[in-house]
Amino acid sequence: MKIRSKVSHYKLKKGDTVEVITGVEKGKRGTIIKVLPQKGKVVIEGVKLVKRHMRPSQKMPQGGIVEKPAPIDISDVMLVCPHCNQKTRTRMVTVGDNKTRSCKKCGELIDEV
Ligand SMILES: [Zn+2]
Repeated sequence: MKIRSKVSHYKLKKGDTVEVITGVEKGKRGTIIKVLPQKGKVVIEGVKLVKRHMRPSQKMPQGGIVEKPAPIDISDVMLVCPHCNQKTRTRMVTVGDNKTRSCKKCGELIDEV
């Protein structure tokens, strides 16, 4: 039996800039604000906003509607390389004692080491 972890497969993490590659939000870019590994989803700032009705609170005595980003499937987004600004897949490379991600297109490291 083969067990494949979605999370390690996609190698996305909080703070990454990603682009949506499918669906109505296709082409939108944003920063990952939350990773939900168990669900295989990420929450991206400004992407897939849904309206939520808020009960009246101290902050909002009238209650109201706020827009919040909903989780999106991790396979629906791709990492955007901060160096070449293209959607890319990553390759794991070893730098000193650290394993880190590099861009498959330009070869630059995605993360600071
Ligand atoms: Zn690159």
